[in-house]
Amino acid sequence: MTVTRKDFLKMFGLGVASSGLFRKTGLASEKMEGARAVSGKMKIKEIEIFKFDLPLKAPFRISIGTVNAANDVLIKVHTDSGLVGIGEACPFPPITGETQDTNLSMARSIRDMLIGRDPLAIESLVAEMGAIVHSNPSVVAAYDTALFDILGKAAGLPVFRLLGGDKATFETDVTTGIDTPENMAANAKAHAGRGYKTLKAKVGLDPDEDVSRIQAIREAIGYDINLRIDANQGWNVPQAIYALKKMEKFRIQLVEQPVVAWDTAGMKTVRSESPIPIMADEAIFLPSDAIKLIKAEACDFFNIKLMKAGGILNSVRIAHIADAANMRCMVGCMLDSNVGLTAAAHVVASQRNIVYADLDGNTEHVVDPVIGGMTVKAGTITLPETPGLGLDVDPAFLKKMAKV
Ligand code: MG
Repeated sequence: MTVTRKDFLKMFGLGVASSGLFRKTGLASEKMEGARAVSGKMKIKEIEIFKFDLPLKAPFRISIGTVNAANDVLIKVHTDSGLVGIGEACPFPPITGETQDTNLSMARSIRDMLIGRDPLAIESLVAEMGAIVHSNPSVVAAYDTALFDILGKAAGLPVFRLLGGDKATFETDVTTGIDTPENMAANAKAHAGRGYKTLKAKVGLDPDEDVSRIQAIREAIGYDINLRIDANQGWNVPQAIYALKKMEKFRIQLVEQPVVAWDTAGMKTVRSESPIPIMADEAIFLPSDAIKLIKAEACDFFNIKLMKAGGILNSVRIAHIADAANMRCMVGCMLDSNVGLTAAAHVVASQRNIVYADLDGNTEHVVDPVIGGMTVKAGTITLPETPGLGLDVDPAFLKKMAKV
């Protein structure tokens, strides 16, 4: 068919779905009309905020602190159309400086702001939330995730497909916390026995002891398994260079955050001397940090986390910035339940340049109250094809949690 000038103007001037042209070409499905009808009309009616306490099997130790439980926050956003979105905040005090208490307090302020608003206006709402909470990114992540869950349900698509992705299945590593070389080796071997093809080990204490830890792990698992390490800011610049040179022979895929987060110049120095590629983690929270690190040439990879970036929207923005700099990324987690992990998995699945995943936050949880969501089998994550995030939280479990 011929597109007349009138049709063309109609398409862009009067809106795509209402255009006669689109009806004629069959592109305007009922669904599209429906989505347009919903957009701008749906309103957030009610928001439930829960304490979401998930005990760990054992304390989790990294170089900058030990965590004994995942004291998270769960948000349920209800709309007047009946769609409900779920999101989790997993504050990790040594990294983001937030706690469950600060997240709960901020969650209440955000609730007041969101009631009556259009849940599909994610760009605007995330910007407004960021302005309210400044440095409580996890609680913004919880709301952002819930809004994307609603968007996916309204569109009838899983979030990763909505974002243009097609990677429903991909590999994750699993992490071994800091311990004696013997215990870390045993732990790593057990993970390898469960089918994981990539392991991550925490280091960042005394460099020689760290080298012993990695040597013990390599001796236990051999060289067919990828090994990445994470110093969590634990070394200074000379220590990092010393340790990484000594570890070269153990074939380490990459090292996360060798030096303190604010020392961009120091990280660049380590990068120029290290035989092992450098991944920024604590140094990158927001898209603006990505620009800063790229300009400084301080790292080879970014570790994106929803709990640092403030959710899915900003995580995708970081991936896009990295892609434009020809840089690849990993998506990691805190001690999230399968709610936060699944949201993160949707981000991995949606972006071509997110090539690694570290989504093992609930491995050490005593309970898993999440119904649906991503599944992990021998280190392979699979996302459900259900609209939105594709999950819910067991109502019986939530009944036991304090509602704020
Ligand atoms: Mg890390």
